[in-house]
Amino acid sequence: MNTLEKIFLANPRGFCAGVKYAISYVETLKDTHKNDNIYVRKEIVHNRRVVSDMENKGIKFINELGEAPDGSIVVFSAHGVSPEVVNFAKTHNMRIGDATCPLVTRVHKKAKSYKSTYQIIYIGHRGHDEAIGTMGEAEMHLVESEEDVIKLKNILDSNKPITYLMQTTLSINDTKKIVDKISEIFPNVEHPEKDDICYATTERQESVSQMLNEISAMLVIGSENSSNSMRLLELAQKTKEFSFRVANAEELDKSYIDKNNIKILGITAGASTPQILVDEIIIKLKIFYPNVIVEDFPNSREDMMKFKLPRELLK
Ligand code: SF4
Repeated sequence: MNTLEKIFLANPRGFCAGVKYAISYVETLKDTHKNDNIYVRKEIVHNRRVVSDMENKGIKFINELGEAPDGSIVVFSAHGVSPEVVNFAKTHNMRIGDATCPLVTRVHKKAKSYKSTYQIIYIGHRGHDEAIGTMGEAEMHLVESEEDVIKLKNILDSNKPITYLMQTTLSINDTKKIVDKISEIFPNVEHPEKDDICYATTERQESVSQMLNEISAMLVIGSENSSNSMRLLELAQKTKEFSFRVANAEELDKSYIDKNNIKILGITAGASTPQILVDEIIIKLKIFYPNVIVEDFPNSREDMMKFKLPRELLK
């Protein structure tokens, strides 16, 4: 009979600086505006537990600003919003709190600076909140794959300047292939000085890559709509096919671990996953496998960035 013998914890894992920033932003706002309703547009970060903890503190979540009364306090999530959403808030006299991760804001600024000169290709995932927000800044051509780049051949004018931007939470390897295809199809493309995949995405993917030779499978803790969690899962599954994802301890299935003879399990968590979910899963695994050894994987730790909250929270 299989028994899980060892768990290696990835470092870094879980909350990134942008997620911490967004959560503290909303909590500070709640503290300083005790008598006001605070409406957060969309999930503040893509994690159900984080959202339900905030709901328990009285913070309200809405899908679109029209659901909040005119003049109310509204907060934009860590993924950012398009100028259209900002304009809606302004025309309805809403007081705006912006919890957009500064690294997403940086991509918005680049989009604004490129828009009068370049034809912009955006590498990202259709329908993701961050992609929708960034693509609202300028006319952009979304590509999700190398095939999508080929389709742009007859759409973009090769005689005019072309550049690209990207979502911050993409797969490093897949994005490199897409950028190579852009260079092949559009030799005149101007490469930005720096790509847009953020430090947290990069470090979490590198940490998983370093572990794959030492484990039977990777468990990724994170929500299905968390782009960076899904990229970690895809990365792990390329080498360790039985790698799997759960959103929380309730979803953990012992029979899956036993059936696939997983003896050494790596655990990582997406950038929006709170540590409490990792702790709860480890507790459950220890109940399933009382002799399991839990260790930090001996690889590099992140030098966590810190984003300072603005002094004036509302605009
Ligand atoms: S994953 Fe990166 S871009 Fe997204 S919130 Fe975290 S630091 Fe910001």
